[in-house]
Amino acid sequence: MTASAEPGSTAFATRQIQAGYVPGTPQNSAVPPIYQTAAYQFASLADAADLFALRQAGNLYSRNASPTQQVLEERVAALEGGVSAVAVASGQAAVAVTLLALAGRGGHIVAANQLYGGTVDLLQDTFDDFGIPVTFVDQDDADAWRTAIRPETRALFAESVANPIAQVLDIRLVADIAHSAGVPLVIDNTVGTPFLVRPGEHGADFVVHSATKFLSGHGTSLGGVAVDQGTFDFGAEPERWPQFTGPYPRFGDLVLWERFGIGFAFAALVKSKYVHDLGPSLSPFNAWQILQGIETLDLRVSRQSASALAVAEHLAQHPRVAAVHHPGLAGNPWHGLAGRYLPRGVPSVFSFDLTGPEDAGTQERVAQVIDSLNVIRLVANIGDARSMVAHPASMTHSHLSPAQRAAAGISLNTIRFSAGLEDPADLIADLDQALARL
Ligand SMILES: *Cc1c(COP(=O)(O)O)cnc(C)c1O
Repeated sequence: MTASAEPGSTAFATRQIQAGYVPGTPQNSAVPPIYQTAAYQFASLADAADLFALRQAGNLYSRNASPTQQVLEERVAALEGGVSAVAVASGQAAVAVTLLALAGRGGHIVAANQLYGGTVDLLQDTFDDFGIPVTFVDQDDADAWRTAIRPETRALFAESVANPIAQVLDIRLVADIAHSAGVPLVIDNTVGTPFLVRPGEHGADFVVHSATKFLSGHGTSLGGVAVDQGTFDFGAEPERWPQFTGPYPRFGDLVLWERFGIGFAFAALVKSKYVHDLGPSLSPFNAWQILQGIETLDLRVSRQSASALAVAEHLAQHPRVAAVHHPGLAGNPWHGLAGRYLPRGVPSVFSFDLTGPEDAGTQERVAQVIDSLNVIRLVANIGDARSMVAHPASMTHSHLSPAQRAAAGISLNTIRFSAGLEDPADLIADLDQALARL
């Protein structure tokens, strides 16, 4: 919840190694240490009382904050060009606490149809149980976003690059729609990564991540981060945002907006209420693993992006492949948006459809291909050093209705691919031998 390095003051590759950590702790550890402790000892009772009342910032109990987690928060905020961040136990938790904090009591959310399956479960099932209505819209349809907005709407939500079909969002367009309605735009930048696209530069006010994926980068640790870009002014229409601008009952007459202000009040609310009450805290060890991953983010993402494009180009002319959903390919409907938002490369997660009908035999034909892969692994993850495939219709997106799957662009023939760091020639040869089984 502390300020990041001034955006742009150092280059991305320097920030991914250094932001958020200055050696100077008693042991002077060159690498951020893991503070594997549940709680912190107070200097005095007066000190403890100040920390509990939010009069003073500091460590009290690891459910709320830990120094390892704080380094991660500052680092991701710096990479996104944001002002503050909250790190939590998973990407799901980052999406949940962000939207819960914005929705407050009685709020409504508008979200894209094209979302990660777990997020769809969260928004249409659990948020519904909580009494937070969510309207889903086609993210490419500007009028659909506009018409879905109600007086009680408190956030618009979409992925910068959607998983698994890799639709590229016109972030600026949706940000403008959100802002003309007086609400913030929240972007899940998990697939995009801050190396390839920084949604805050295109109008997004909050950016969330599943740090489990590219930030961690090695498939070892779950984590999530929510970044406040410091752009949304909750004070402009204070009656809409009582959770920020009104008294915070558990802290007497404290008003977060007055105490913390723009760029910091959001993190203060998320930590002191949603993480504190619901408990999705990031373990110090996972925070450390994710920090290790981030140190090589640009190298990994550049290589994975190039490998994925090579694989996509190969699959695009393969006779057993009906379609390749990769916005780096000319002719892809999102190719133009990819040029505008992703000049450094298109993310390495995309999908392709096998040839053949969608019928009772499809699952078996897809299995024939997937179960024949040797180099590429069948794993429900992305952004790992290992290349992996998944079958969205029977795995990540199996809870969606057929109509929802179609709206997200997923068929029974769709296979998701996430490029790792292996030699792309081995990936292509592996896919070729598996496709030959069809
Ligand atoms: C994986 C993923 C999530 C959920 O993150 P977890 O860390 O698995 O909880 C959210 N959004 C996207 C785009 C994802 O790929």
